[in-house]
Amino acid sequence: MESDRIIKDSILKDFRDLKIMAIELTLSIIKPDAVSKGHMGEILARFEKNGLRIVAAKVSLLSRWQVEQIYGIHKGRPFYQDLLQFMTSGPVMLAVLEGEDAVAKNREIMGNTDPHLALPGTIRADFGTAANRNAVHGSDGPDRARYEIACLFEVGEIYSQIWLPERERHHQSAGS
Ligand code: ATP
Ligand code: MG
Repeated sequence: MESDRIIKDSILKDFRDLKIMAIELTLSIIKPDAVSKGHMGEILARFEKNGLRIVAAKVSLLSRWQVEQIYGIHKGRPFYQDLLQFMTSGPVMLAVLEGEDAVAKNREIMGNTDPHLALPGTIRADFGTAANRNAVHGSDGPDRARYEIACLFEVGEIYSQIWLPERERHHQSAGS
């Protein structure tokens, strides 16, 4: 209807500066190879230089159970036992990254699973040495990111600029 079109145009005019943005959170793990070689700081800087905010971070020695929660989807594959052994072999850096399209952006700056195939300038090309020693892990989708973050962080450890957990909202409104 003509009246509908007029209303729609006027509304759109009011919203002409609005951008559709998808701010996401994702999980990064700086793996034992990169941590033991002292590349943790350089890798964290890559995230920040690429517009990803570090909203939670901690050094941790993962248990076998924790690694199984993250990589259990690969159970039965030839590299699985080595992966479990490697990921529990020394401390890792766990980080929650936040930003526009954070999941895809993190995967992009990580590079290919095999550092030899990763584009120059990516984290894996610069700090990884083989497919099974590839410096970093990144969640491969928003749902996986939520699951992986929930496995490894408490709500209170995450200082997101966009996400206020529901229980915090209740807490705040109860206090106000
Ligand atoms: P990640 O999940 O660690 O971010 P990815 O998503 O690029 O890596 P996946 O297919 O999920 O790759 O594999 C998980 C991990 O298993 C890899 O990071 C690597 O450590 C190991 N892996 C995968 N494929 C191989 C392989 N062909 N040979 C040895 N290790 C492998
Ligand atoms: Mg993966």
